[in-house]
Amino acid sequence: MSRLLVVEDDETIGSVLESSLRAHGHQVAWQRSGRDALCVAAETDFDLVLLDLGLPDLDGVEVCRQLRAGNPATVLVILTARTDEMDVVVGLEAGADDYLTKPVRLAELLARVRAHLRRVAPTTSGAQPMLVVGDLLVDTGSRRASVAGTEMPLRAKEFDLLARLAAAPEVAISRETLMEQVWDENWFGPTKTLDVHVAALRRKLAGMAQLGSVPRITTLRGHGYRLEAPPPEES
Ligand code: CA
Repeated sequence: MSRLLVVEDDETIGSVLESSLRAHGHQVAWQRSGRDALCVAAETDFDLVLLDLGLPDLDGVEVCRQLRAGNPATVLVILTARTDEMDVVVGLEAGADDYLTKPVRLAELLARVRAHLRRVAPTTSGAQPMLVVGDLLVDTGSRRASVAGTEMPLRAKEFDLLARLAAAPEVAISRETLMEQVWDENWFGPTKTLDVHVAALRRKLAGMAQLGSVPRITTLRGHGYRLEAPPPEES
């Protein structure tokens, strides 16, 4: 059973979220303010937090930042009525993994939650548990990625995405395939989440570049992405 934290000051939205998520088998704690949310998150390890950005006491982005700092492994999904793209970007930079804009469609929210809590199976049909591209090693058994022995700190979906790309280096993989296989087979709605995760992976891969030859993720406009092995060293 997954442990979820809902942070929402709106009574109607909060109670709908709480009861629907409970009906889907999750354990749900509901907090109505940023301070209360930070308090319970300091006591309990939640698998996923749904965080409204418009809170009565604290700025939601600041709550997001503090939740992320204290809970590196938790999936953070922000809910925002703010349609301004900048707010979404600021929230993602503050450590959110994903976002939903209000009014939230319940079916979509439940699909996202399910997708975030789902882990890609360690060995999918025929895939090798240990994937090697250049000096990048992706161990799907232990869910660790490393370059020349140094582990890359990755969030759950970043790991899943990297493992999917590394399972087929040099192969073009469509956005639809990645969304289906890494997130959810019934994914609908915007796929900006994918771009956010690719951007995070690129940053982290670039951060490992001094340790060895790391692959890069190439954008294929209108199609998807391709993981490319680094060029061979000049000798
Ligand atoms: Ca609110």
